Amino acid sequence: MSLNEIDIHAALKKYFGFSQFKGLQEGVVKNILEGRNTFVIMPTGGGKSLCYQLPALMQEGTAIVVSPLIALMKNQVDAMRGVSAEMGIAHVLNSSLNKTEIKQVKKDITDGTTKLLYVAPESLTKDENVEFLRSVKISFVAVDEAHCISEWGHDFRPEYRNLKAIVARLGEDIPMIGLTATATPKVQEDIIKNLGITDATVFKASFNRPNLFYEVRTKTDNVDADIIRFIKQNEGKSGIVYCLSRKKVEELAQVLQVNGISAVPYHAGFDAKTRSKYQDMFLMEDVNVVVATIAFGMGIDKPDVRYVIHHDIPKSIESYYQETGRAGRDGGEGHCLAFYSYKDIEKLEKFMSGKPVAEQEIGNALLQEVVAYAETSMSRRKFMLHYFGEEFDEINGDGADMDDNTRNPKEKVEAKDDALKLLRVVQGTSEKFKSKEIVNTLRGKNNALISSHKTNEKEFFGIGSDKDKSHWMALIRQFLVAGYIRKDIEQYGVLHLTEKGQEFLKNPHSFLMTKDHVYNAENDNAIVGASKGGGVADEKLLKQLKDLRKSQANKLGVPPFVVFQDPS
Ligand code: ADP
Ligand code: MG
Repeated sequence: MSLNEIDIHAALKKYFGFSQFKGLQEGVVKNILEGRNTFVIMPTGGGKSLCYQLPALMQEGTAIVVSPLIALMKNQVDAMRGVSAEMGIAHVLNSSLNKTEIKQVKKDITDGTTKLLYVAPESLTKDENVEFLRSVKISFVAVDEAHCISEWGHDFRPEYRNLKAIVARLGEDIPMIGLTATATPKVQEDIIKNLGITDATVFKASFNRPNLFYEVRTKTDNVDADIIRFIKQNEGKSGIVYCLSRKKVEELAQVLQVNGISAVPYHAGFDAKTRSKYQDMFLMEDVNVVVATIAFGMGIDKPDVRYVIHHDIPKSIESYYQETGRAGRDGGEGHCLAFYSYKDIEKLEKFMSGKPVAEQEIGNALLQEVVAYAETSMSRRKFMLHYFGEEFDEINGDGADMDDNTRNPKEKVEAKDDALKLLRVVQGTSEKFKSKEIVNTLRGKNNALISSHKTNEKEFFGIGSDKDKSHWMALIRQFLVAGYIRKDIEQYGVLHLTEKGQEFLKNPHSFLMTKDHVYNAENDNAIVGASKGGGVADEKLLKQLKDLRKSQANKLGVPPFVVFQDPS
C-alpha cells in the first residue's frame, strides 16, 4: 500500500473531522500503515486512540484492539459508529453477547465491514474466538493501556501476559501496537519484552505539564483546616480532593459543606445512580468540589479543574501524576497540592505487609519514590520527569518555576556530625534494627529490645539525645533517598549500610539536610468540625453538626447525605 500524506490527512478529515494531527500522531499512523511494530507512550488525553483507529479504517482487514475495561471499549465503539454510517464498523466481542449477536459480529468481520474489534484479553484467549480470528484477515493488534502487562504498572492484569502467545496463534507477522500513558522506563521495558516487540518504533511524547504548579505541604493535625483554607482562597473554582478511605471522603465532604463549601463525595461504595449524580453535579458545576477516592477520575474530562488536593499521599509517583493530571486540562491554571506525613507512608507499608514478598518489594520501591518526591528540595517537575526517564532543564524548561521548591527553596543545614552518629549506630548495632529502634537508641530511650543490647552496643545510647525524634526520622529518610542506607523488606524494614554508607563512615563529608517548608496556620477558629490528626472527626461533633449540615446543604443546593457504610 502506498499512502502519501495527502491521503492520511484526507482520511483524518473524513473520519474524524480534524484538520491536524495532535503531537506525534501522524508519525505513529504512518508507522502502523507501513506494517511495523509500534510503541506509543503519550499522557492521558494525548490522543492515543486515533493512532490505531485511523490506520485501522484505512487498511484492509480487521484490527483487534485489546482493552482492559468494557466501559472503555463501549465508549470507543460508540464513537467509531459516529464516524461511519456502517454500524458494523466497530464491534466488541465479549461474553455478554448472545448467539445472534455473535453471529452478526462474525458476519461483519468476514464481510470486511468491521475495521475495529475490541476485546478483553480474557475473550481473546478463548479457543473458539482464536479459531475464528485465525480464519479472517487481521490488519494489526493494538494493545491499549499496555501497562496492564507489568507488575510495575498501576493496573496489573495477569491475562495481558499471554497476549504475545495468542497473537502468534492468530497468524504470522501480525504487527503489534502497544499504547500506554505510563511513562516509567521499567514499565516500558516490561511492555516491549512481554509483547515481544523489541524491534518496535517507539514514539514517546513529553509528560511535562507546564501549566501545573506542584506543591507538597507537611500534613499536620490541622490538615482539614488547611484544605478548607486553600479552597476558600480559591473560591468559585473547581477542584478535586483525593482521600485514601471512603470514610474520610464522606467525612471531609461533610466538613467542607458545614464550612460553606459546595462539595459532594464520590467513592465506589455508592451505588451507580448516586455516583453518576455526584459526578454530574461536579461536571455541571452545581458544586465546586468533589471529595473522592481514586475511583473518581477515569475518563472524567472536565477541562477547567483548577486544583487537585491529596489529603493522603498516593502509593506511587505514577498515580500521583495521573491524579494531578486532571487539573488544568484546558492549559489554564492547575494547582497540585499534596499533604504529606511519614505516618501515612507507614500506614501504606502496613497495608502491604500481608502481601507476597515480590509484591511488597515492588510496592515499597514505588513508595520510596513517593517519599523522595515529597521530601526532595529539587524542582518537583524535574524530579517527576526524571522518574519518567525524561530530562528537564530546571532553569529554562517549560514550567521551570512552577513548584514550591523552586519558588521558595528549602533551607538546608549541615548534618555531617549527625549523619556520622546515625551510621555508627546502624553499624554498631549489627544492622538489626528498624528506624524506630535506631532512633530510640540515638535518643537513649530504653525499650525491651534495646535493653537486650549487647554491652558493646550500649555506648551508642543517647549519643543523639540533643535532637528530637522528627529530626532523626527526617535524616534517616534523606539518607535512604541518598542511598547511604537501605531498608530490608524481607526483614520488615531493618536498616542496612550500603557501600556508599560504609564509605561515608571511612571518609565523612558534608551532608546538607533539607528542612521542610513551614506554614503558619492562621486563624483556625473560623473552621468548624475539622478533624484533628488527619483521622476521623469526632463522631459526637459530627452529630452536633448534623443540623447545621442539613441547613448548609440546603443553602448550597447539594444533597445532604448520611452514609458511612462500608468504610474501607
Ligand atoms: P488518550 O487515549 O491518549 O488518553 P484519547 O484518544 O481519548 O486520548 O483522546 C483524547 C481527546 O483528544 C479526545 O477527545 C479526542 O477526540 C481528541 N483528539 C485526538 N486526536 C485529535 C486531533 N488530531 N485533533 C483534535 N483532537 C484530537
Ligand atoms: Mg486511551
